[in-house]
Amino acid sequence: MVFERSSYRLLCPTCGHRIIDDGTVTHCSGEHGRSLLRTEYAEREFRIDRSTQGMLRYRAWLPLREPVETDFGTVILRSDSLNAYLRTPNLRLAVNGFWPERGARLPSGTFKDIEAIAILGRFPRDGRTLVAASAGNTAVALASAASIYEVPTVIIVPESALPRIVFSRAPGENVRFIVVTGNAIYDDAIVAARKLGTRDGHVFEGGAQNVARRDGIGTTIAAYMEVEGALPEYFVQAVGSGSGGIAAHEAARRAIASGAFGARFPHLVLVQNAPFAPIFHAWAAGSNSVEAAHRPDSAFLAGAEISAAVLGSLAPPYEPKGGLLDALTESAGDVTAVENVAARAAAALFEELEGVDLDPAAAVALAGLIERLEHGAIPRDAHIALHITGVGRRRLAAERRIPPTIATRIEATRP
Ligand SMILES: [Zn+2]
Repeated sequence: MVFERSSYRLLCPTCGHRIIDDGTVTHCSGEHGRSLLRTEYAEREFRIDRSTQGMLRYRAWLPLREPVETDFGTVILRSDSLNAYLRTPNLRLAVNGFWPERGARLPSGTFKDIEAIAILGRFPRDGRTLVAASAGNTAVALASAASIYEVPTVIIVPESALPRIVFSRAPGENVRFIVVTGNAIYDDAIVAARKLGTRDGHVFEGGAQNVARRDGIGTTIAAYMEVEGALPEYFVQAVGSGSGGIAAHEAARRAIASGAFGARFPHLVLVQNAPFAPIFHAWAAGSNSVEAAHRPDSAFLAGAEISAAVLGSLAPPYEPKGGLLDALTESAGDVTAVENVAARAAAALFEELEGVDLDPAAAVALAGLIERLEHGAIPRDAHIALHITGVGRRRLAAERRIPPTIATRIEATRP
């Protein structure tokens, strides 16, 4: 297969500046407030590469600069039993996980494998080191993919995430792990990654600001579009860092701009895991900023109190232009929050109906959908896409026993 670089520019939604990407750009240099750059592809039509499977079918809308090959992708499913139970005939599951009976074969069991391929397909292979932070799943996915493409990579994780980081095959020597000790949380790992990324020869991956990460997740919407021939009316997704919600909205923007998918954005329905729900609180209060002020104590944030620890991000890109607030406003969206007990009940329900285990984050999304249906906020006959990321981990865990080799341990330095 001949590798074709996709043709795209980065657009700053604040000043309209268009930037030629070198594979590492995460910010506009304009003098204005925070702004999330987004991609603008030369290909405006929804083009499917039928020679391949999975996410690369939508490569025309991925910022790929280096060769990657994969059949990883989202599977769009209908669960007859769940639809009957919820009385939602038009509910579809956008599954990113490990559920081979239904065609889902992501090795980390989450959408992080898709993100990792997109990130490595954009990052320049010129000897520089990619520096990323992770709360667990990204570490597994990125380390595995970086080993294949031999991209020098440093992954920084909070110590509390270590139990979730296990491999079926040890990562290559090009991948190093740094652990932030004590009660460190994901955000502490981000601070450390950002700092290391300023060193010579190192580049911080960018988190939610990395367009590859977001457009990678955008292939989940593209998969829905291919199968259903339309955009969903509602897109339900659990959020921590929020990049999944923004990514879905951006993918819908491309679909609408193509002229072939109508003019209405899917209503974004974002679900947080209470009691840690900064996006929910900001949205409910009509505030244009997430309250960074009320920082709960670290033991709480380390996952002691929310079942979906991966959703515990303190600094989601809510206020920046092109961020969550804009996406929610433009899509006439909604944010809800569910307690652990509701998430556990949703996971139990799904397992009973479908015989497969959900990760806490996926359970939070399902619980949020149930809650919104019960409140009448989503009509039961609507065309709904429920993003289920994190499926089948129990089976994966049985195959994964190799812990990462830790290169360095550091202490958290909080700003
Ligand atoms: Zn700008």
